[in-house]
Amino acid sequence: MNAMPTESALTAGLDDEQREAVLAARGPVCVLAGAGTGKTRTITHRIAHLVGAGHVAAGQVLAVTFTSRAAGEMRSRLRGLDATAQTGARVGAVQALTFHAAARRQLSYFWPRVVGSTGWQLLDSKFSVVAQAANRAKVQASTDAVRDLAGEIEWAKASLITPERYAQAVAEVSRDIPMDAARVAAVYAGYEALKARGEVALLDFDDLLLHTAAAIENDPGVAAEFRDRYRCFVVDEYQDVTPLQQRVLTAWLGERDDLTVVGDANQTIYSFTGASPRYLLDFSRRFPDATVVRLERDYRSTPQVVSLANRVIQEARGRVAGSRLHLIGQRPPGPEPAMREYPDEVAEAAAVARAVKGLIESGTEAAEIAVLYRINAQSEVYEEALTEAGVAYQVRGGEGFFSRQEIRQALVALQRAAERGDVGPGSDLPALVRGLLEPLGLTAEPPAGTRVRERWEALTALAELVDEEVATRPDLDLAALVAELRVRADSRHPPVVQGVTLASLHAAKGLEWDAVFLVGLADGTLPISHALSHGPDSEAVEEERRLLYVGITRARVHLTLSWALSRTPGGRQSRRPSRFLSSVAPKQAPDRSNGSRRQRGPAKRCRVCNAELNTPAAIMLRRCETCASDIDDELLTRLKDWRSRTAKELKVPAFVVFSDNTLIAIAETLPTDDAALVAIPGIGARKLEQYGEDLLELVRARG
Ligand code: ATP
Ligand code: MG
Repeated sequence: MNAMPTESALTAGLDDEQREAVLAARGPVCVLAGAGTGKTRTITHRIAHLVGAGHVAAGQVLAVTFTSRAAGEMRSRLRGLDATAQTGARVGAVQALTFHAAARRQLSYFWPRVVGSTGWQLLDSKFSVVAQAANRAKVQASTDAVRDLAGEIEWAKASLITPERYAQAVAEVSRDIPMDAARVAAVYAGYEALKARGEVALLDFDDLLLHTAAAIENDPGVAAEFRDRYRCFVVDEYQDVTPLQQRVLTAWLGERDDLTVVGDANQTIYSFTGASPRYLLDFSRRFPDATVVRLERDYRSTPQVVSLANRVIQEARGRVAGSRLHLIGQRPPGPEPAMREYPDEVAEAAAVARAVKGLIESGTEAAEIAVLYRINAQSEVYEEALTEAGVAYQVRGGEGFFSRQEIRQALVALQRAAERGDVGPGSDLPALVRGLLEPLGLTAEPPAGTRVRERWEALTALAELVDEEVATRPDLDLAALVAELRVRADSRHPPVVQGVTLASLHAAKGLEWDAVFLVGLADGTLPISHALSHGPDSEAVEEERRLLYVGITRARVHLTLSWALSRTPGGRQSRRPSRFLSSVAPKQAPDRSNGSRRQRGPAKRCRVCNAELNTPAAIMLRRCETCASDIDDELLTRLKDWRSRTAKELKVPAFVVFSDNTLIAIAETLPTDDAALVAIPGIGARKLEQYGEDLLELVRARG
């Protein structure tokens, strides 16, 4: 065959299965494969092969995916293959677009023919029209509730559900909805009517797809012209296709079957937007003569990481689980993934920050490290801990905690209350703060609606931060508390592109890092409580398991999983590790079969009464909180003065230097050497090096 040189150059870097998919004849091809097995690599090589061998012209290929980032990645890989294909076939000229971008182009071209002279305008954001529709339907909706309504409309349209069928459809799939279904449906109907009312039709992103499909379905002339133009279709991340996008794809294809799809059903984590893996799983039923290829070699992660990923997904149940593949790691071996339990989130975050710092010091680039969590509100403790450790970071797919709208509003509300001056020390500050945050959305129970709940989660995190602050400084009044929170907000480093990444598991999809920390893996956070409310074996819980799988498979070499038994130091240690870890946790993990909660290492005992210590504050103090303190008050005052001076010099908040509890422990135990210092919780190697001399000097100088 004249295409031999092209083939060998193109297929040199492929394994046997990848090569089979690349070289398959034109027609239906389905690549089912796990994370990091080279799916994107395979389809780009397949396109290059088809074009290079002259089977199809570059301009007749349409490659689609779901995010601009993924489309861009595909384009750059295709351009990179131009040189390899060696035929001058211009593989880089192949169109690689998102579904929306492809539909937009096509609609612009066909619209005059299908609709006539009435123009259309793209509605970049549906917010104002949804707000108007809510208003007309007499549905009271806050800004976040309007966003949630818009989300529902998007889900319904992506799922091809009309306003009339909305209520029934949400009941059928037991979908969590932000408000009564009849009211959502009324707003949805009103929204569609408002868009169609003006001189020019307003089209939202989903309308682009609907109209494109309809134009091809209803007008044989349009269909013929379109199908003449595009002959060969390729879809990456096919498990993320929605019924609406599938309808467009079906319209594009017509009776033809020149379609290559690749995907991983076990990475389906966007079901709530309407994405469904069923089209991927049903592919060979729809195209019985399809070439189906399974890739099992994982080129991204070490065998240790791959093994954990396999064990987690092994437990999956339901239809999607049937498609899982056992991955085989191809990289050289690396460290075993670590699993760590902490008494509280502050301790967990501090340990993660220390480990991150250690990795950076031993040569891992900050940009190659990620801390991943389930919900955005979890970022706060990590921002704090990384700031304290002096590590630069960026929060991906969201702002830093103190930049969030609801947190800024909350600080203003607290500030105003402080200025009104109706509160002083002694009043129950945590309860007061919760009262002030209630009008902003901190209800007693988590509300329904994605955005509304996210606001609630952030406000809850703030209230918990206040609990923590008040626990360590009982003398605070509201004004001092607000000042303290402002100091914290201001001390956060501005985001840097080359810093450590903080991201939610959803935002981490498709990305990879050398080192990954999966944090906050407590049951009720992952799986999240509202998924559990659908039942322990529900599809919602299965999707949470897939989130963990996506998280694990982001790591190339270093992977640490951790959880905390309570939110705040001294809080009730009522949490348990994620149920997904029960079968994969190593033997040395705490045995919780009898419900006992053991600390790692020997039990810590009170140095006054020898009782076992079980709250973080007590462990910090190295005595029961109720036991008499033998404190040297003068020394404590001097230690505090020294702390303010040092903090001022370093331009950091005082708590970054040492917490009150650490200073109290020093003033009580009077350490005389380095060993005694590091035995005090809150003093690690770094602080010993930085402040050890000063502290010992202060102790020595006591009267
Ligand atoms: P995801 O599920 O995260 O989208 P994927 O299956 O699309 O992953 P790719 O991004 O194509 O995987 O490949 C993962 C990494 O492995 C890339 O760096 C790619 O270059 C490399 N890789 C893929 N196949 C091979 C191979 N045969 N030999 C060497 N490296 C490979
Ligand atoms: Mg890919």
